[in-house]
This record gives sequence, structure tokens and C-alpha cells, in this order.
Amino acid sequence: MTAQLIDGNALARQIRADVRARTTALKARGIEPTLAIILVGDDPASQIYVKHKVNDSSETGLNARLERYPAAMAENDLLARIHALNADTAVHGILVQLPLPPQMDSHKVIEAIAPAKDVDGFHVSNAGALMVGQRGFWPCTPHGCLKMLDSIGYPLRGKHAVVIGRSNIVGKPMAMMLLARSATVTLCHSATRDLAALTAQADVIVAAVGKRNLLTAEMVKPGAVVIDVGMNRNDAGKLCGDVDFEGVKNVAGWITPVPGGVGPMTRAMLLVNTIEATEAAAR
Ligand code: NAP
Repeated sequence: MTAQLIDGNALARQIRADVRARTTALKARGIEPTLAIILVGDDPASQIYVKHKVNDSSETGLNARLERYPAAMAENDLLARIHALNADTAVHGILVQLPLPPQMDSHKVIEAIAPAKDVDGFHVSNAGALMVGQRGFWPCTPHGCLKMLDSIGYPLRGKHAVVIGRSNIVGKPMAMMLLARSATVTLCHSATRDLAALTAQADVIVAAVGKRNLLTAEMVKPGAVVIDVGMNRNDAGKLCGDVDFEGVKNVAGWITPVPGGVGPMTRAMLLVNTIEATEAAAR
């Protein structure tokens, strides 16, 4: 069997086109959707992520305001800046690029963002809303994964989904989203015993660990949907996921590639959250 590819690039393109149309409609009403992006310090990976976010915003007509601060910035100064952005009605979304320098408590910083502007969906109010089934901003990566499942018309109800990885930004919210769709969810982590026995029963597997070749063909039920969130480098320095793509694609029914899978969807969902924040503010 050869799995069908879930093309994150193509799906993200459709989503961006929708965001562009919604941006145009808002601008026609005199509203300019605006995302404030805060980067503290000069972490090389963060600089690349932020650049992508600014470019993605500009390409879809959103106004991205990048604010850069030195690594030595005091936490109180950052909190004051966030409070000012919270009060600024011209700003609809606020994103603080993580990780922050060690003198800052990232939880405290994220909690300072107004939940209605928390387009990363990391604020406890938004995490809680997801938990109890209320409206709120969902974290971009798991939301992008869910959109990928929707794009193939996959019926989650009653299916067994195994999520590997329990971080607050990927694994846990992913589990909640799948549960909300009435899947039966097994959330795995580093202390999980016999991971292979669990994944072998799964209809859907979401791998979000950060370990190359964590999921191999023997661990996958024929026909399963495999979503690869991982971002790693192979021996040649090429980007790869957590899934042994070459092996698993012969067993799975559907599979996401790395690159070109979850990554572009994560980026697209940030734009969706920003446009939704703007539309909500404009209502
Ligand atoms: P994280 O915070 O480091 O969490 C990793 C999770 O994997 C933890 O829950 C850990 O368990 C679990 N784990 C570690 N070894 C394991 C094993 N052998 N078996 C089962 N579970 C194991 O990472 P993250 O931020 O969620 O990111 C995960 C991966 O996704 C990384 O490669 C990251 O780069 C990638 N990512 C990609 C995107 C994208 O847009 N494509 C976005 C976000 C993240 P414990 O909790 O027990 O330690």
C-alpha cells in the first residue's frame, strides 16, 4: 500500500487565499488587521520564525508590526509593552516569540496578553476554553493538524487517535481537539510503556516528539492516518519529522510529509487566528 499524501503546502495556500479575502473585506470597512510580533533577543531559530510570520502576514495583506528588543530587556518592561499593546485598538493580535531570555518567566509574559489578542492560543484562558469546549483561540500547530484531517474528510467520531507528545502547545491541545470530535484519544509521552502496541491499534497517529524515526512502519496499522509534527535534521542536515516516512508510507493510508506538511499549516493558522481576532474586534 502507498499512502496518500496530505499536502500541507497546498492546503495552506487555500487557507491563505481565504485570509486574504477576509482581509480585503475588513480593509474595505477601514479596518487594518494588525499583528504585533515581539522578539526579545537574537535566537537564530526565532529570527527565522519571526521573519516567516512577518512575510506570511504581508503576503495576505495583514499588517505585521515587528518589535525587537535586546536579550537583556527587563521582564517588567516587556510586560508594560504588552499592556500597551492590549490597550491599543489598532492592534488585533499579539504574539511573543518563544523562547524568552532566562530572566523572563514565559508563563507570566503569556498571561499578560489579553486573551482576545492571544493569537498563539497559549494563554490559560484560551487553553481552558479548548478544554471546556468554549470558543477561543486554538494553538496553531494542532489546529493545523485538525484542518489536515478535515481536508481528507476523515470521520474522527469513534476512531482511536494516538497522540505522541504532551506539550502544552502541541500534544495536549491536539488531544483535546480530537476528543471534541469524539475520537477516543490516547496521549503518550516519554514514560509511556510499549508505545508500539498503542500506535499499532490507532486509526490516527499524531507524532509530536522531536525524535527522528520515532514512528516506524511496524508501529502503524495498515490504512492509518499519520500526522508528523516533528522537526528534526537527518544525517545530511535535511529537515525531517518524527516518522520514518519511507517505511511508513508503505503501510499508512494517509501521511503528511516533512517539510511541506504541518509546518506550513502552523504558519497559516496564525493568520487565521489573527483575522478572527480582527473580525471579533470589529463586530
Ligand atoms: P516538547 O515540549 O519537547 O515535547 C516533546 C514530547 O515528547 C514530551 O511530551 C515528551 O514526553 C515526549 N517524548 C519524548 N521522548 C518520547 C518517546 N521516546 N516516546 C514518547 N514520547 C516521548 O516538544 P514540542 O514543542 O511539543 O515539539 C515536538 C516536536 O514538534 C519538535 O520536533 C518540534 O520542533 C516540533 N514542532 C513542529 C511544529 C511545526 O510547525 N511543524 C510546531 C511545534 C513543534 P515527556 O512529557 O514525558 O517529557
